[in-house]
Amino acid sequence: PPLYKQRYHFIKQLVNKHKPKKVADLGCADCRLLWMLKFCNCIEVLVGLDISEEVMKEKMHTLSPLPSDYLQPSERPLTVTLLQGSVAHKDPCMLGFDLVTCIELIEHLEAQDLEKFPEVVFGFMSPAMIVISTPNSEFNYLLQTVSLFRHPDHKFEWNRAQFQNWALDAAARYDYTVEFTGVGAPPCGKDVGFCTQIGVFVRKNLRNVKPERFEKYQRSVYKTVFKVIY
Ligand code: SAM
Repeated sequence: PPLYKQRYHFIKQLVNKHKPKKVADLGCADCRLLWMLKFCNCIEVLVGLDISEEVMKEKMHTLSPLPSDYLQPSERPLTVTLLQGSVAHKDPCMLGFDLVTCIELIEHLEAQDLEKFPEVVFGFMSPAMIVISTPNSEFNYLLQTVSLFRHPDHKFEWNRAQFQNWALDAAARYDYTVEFTGVGAPPCGKDVGFCTQIGVFVRKNLRNVKPERFEKYQRSVYKTVFKVIY
């Protein structure tokens, strides 16, 4: 299967294993991962955030309930929300999540936004689990791309050591553990790592962080673009 499907599949397996109730996808683009996740029965709150309202709206309708959802309402409540905003900004609606995914997002961030990212996602949102994926530049020569990066909008592409140093630093600073894996295995005998590198972060202190602690002090900055209650 294509690489993006392997990334989504990785997330789906993680969801099936850990059964998060509240899941947010940051940099959700055209909502394809969200669409897949709405079929996971453990999830009650599903939120997508992207800086581009336009790209979110492309396939937004796929998140709406189908006639069958009304004919056979499910036992569990499910709310799906799309928000326009930046991961460089804090909004109290992102507090209290069990899982936050950032699939192929960080390499699109300008330097000043990348610098704010750990403080916002790890420090403020502080979900129980965070998954971050990004291209592994060591794999690039196998892709035979002629340009410097795999995509013209990429601000950087990191090798394994660069990603792992960044991830270990964020994990240590905000009290998370991190494990590294990936999708897109290299051909036999090539020690270049996965095509997509993935960090899975777990908050060490798994006692519930009380969202109220922050809520009072932070005003809303994200804009709700879509909201549906199943
Ligand atoms: N996560 C999607 C997936 O796996 O199919 C694809 C992500 S796409 C490569 C990167 C996305 O990040 C774009 O939709 C872009 O609009 C969004 N983005 C870029 N900067 C952002 C920011 N500061 N805050 C939120 N989203 C941002």
